[in-house]
Amino acid sequence: MDHISKLIDGFKRFRKHHYDGENHVFRDLTQAGQAPKTLVVGCCDSRVDPAIITNCDPGDLFIIRNVANLVPPFETGGAFHGTSAALEFGVRKLNVEHIIILGHTHCGGIEALIKGDARDEGGFVGSWMKLARHARNRVLARIPQESPEIIVRECEKEAVLVSLDNLLTFPWILERVAQRRLTLHGWHFDLESGTLLCYDPGTHHFVQFDD
Ligand SMILES: [Zn+2]
Repeated sequence: MDHISKLIDGFKRFRKHHYDGENHVFRDLTQAGQAPKTLVVGCCDSRVDPAIITNCDPGDLFIIRNVANLVPPFETGGAFHGTSAALEFGVRKLNVEHIIILGHTHCGGIEALIKGDARDEGGFVGSWMKLARHARNRVLARIPQESPEIIVRECEKEAVLVSLDNLLTFPWILERVAQRRLTLHGWHFDLESGTLLCYDPGTHHFVQFDD
């Protein structure tokens, strides 16, 4: 079966599950409108679909995906700020109550940043990954002697923290966090072990969710 046939067959199963009979999930979602409680900033990586790994249903998550799940700092100007526009819609229009930055192991964007590929390319990815250069610098200053694999792993987590910091540069996010109307979360998903870590601001460590 080629890839497109697989997608069409998948769509038929999706339609049967969500539209047939009483299982008309989208009837409510279209009549009442979407009201997700959580916004996720995830990576484009094909293995890390936020809705799949959290077993969510349509309407549960407002998802932004970009290379290496990065959030840029707040800035104005005429550029095309896709991630910031989606943040604005999710926070100011949909009034989400949680934002999760979802990092992951074997992130190609972070690997390129550490190995220098991103800086050498000069294309869109190289420019975009500059957002995570503080994460790279912090990790290299902290554990310069470690293996490239560990440095990449630590940089994946550090980049999540950079994005959490950058979220607070958006005035309407900072205001809602201060008013406790919005909570920020930093997660890191391990593809191989299937474990999910959560950043604990109290200890400044990523800790595993209890089973
Ligand atoms: Zn990634």
